[in-house]
Amino acid sequence: MGSIKADSVAKQIIAFSLLNRGDERFSVGWLYLIATPIGNLDDLSLRAKDSLIACDLIACEDTRVTAKLLAYFGIKVPTTSYREENERRKASELADRIERGEKIGLVSDAGFPAISDPGFRLVRECRRRNLPVVPVPGPNAAITALAVSGMPTDKFLYLGFLPSKSGGRCKAFNKWKDFSGSLVIYESKYRVAKALADMENIFGPNRNICIAREITKIHETFYVGKISDLKSSFAEKSGKGEFVLIVGPEGYVL
Ligand code: SAM
Repeated sequence: MGSIKADSVAKQIIAFSLLNRGDERFSVGWLYLIATPIGNLDDLSLRAKDSLIACDLIACEDTRVTAKLLAYFGIKVPTTSYREENERRKASELADRIERGEKIGLVSDAGFPAISDPGFRLVRECRRRNLPVVPVPGPNAAITALAVSGMPTDKFLYLGFLPSKSGGRCKAFNKWKDFSGSLVIYESKYRVAKALADMENIFGPNRNICIAREITKIHETFYVGKISDLKSSFAEKSGKGEFVLIVGPEGYVL
């Protein structure tokens, strides 16, 4: 159970958003969609911390990962697993609990839940039942990488994870190679080098890109430049960690 302070802050927020919609049902609970750090635990916002404390139950992608976050901040709230494998069943169960008046928090292992992570089904279930969804924004790898990449930020396309095989990846690159903004891609450490090779084939060697590695962590590195240059320098370095790839549009000069 959460503190009185966090609870009253949350109630003010929800009352405000419900009133804004002309909705006067204050007796239901709500879903908090809470963004958590993508590396540096100190990136958890004060409001995210208060919201976690205020929850009756926190639904986590991996309860062991979230247990570490909660322990770091001294938060003692019950958790339950909400992951890809049980999402369909759990979405309905959690929405039932919200309907009965509980405050359910949803977190993923890192970043914004529902963005290339479990969460969409629960949010949709809440919307279908007209239950409040309260966003608690915070870290997200895609937006953070884009903002610091030096590639255009006025227009971008979030592609998330591409197919793991070269054929599927190349098909996606071919489809979007003429997009007039930046492309934002999540890639696993096992496939970054292969994705760069495919990019060079489809986009050509001179396309400007940014490889954002281990954002907010000890080995945070941003490689920025032409695909051909980065491909060779990157191949010599360790491919360990988590990566976001930002591809600038054709003809973009850094
Ligand atoms: N929901 C998360 C978000 O809001 O960013 C994304 C989760 S997705 C399962 C995990 C992928 O996000 C990683 O494979 C990597 O591509 C990217 N990512 C997450 N944390 C990162 C970090 N600290 N540095 C670079 N990329 C990261």
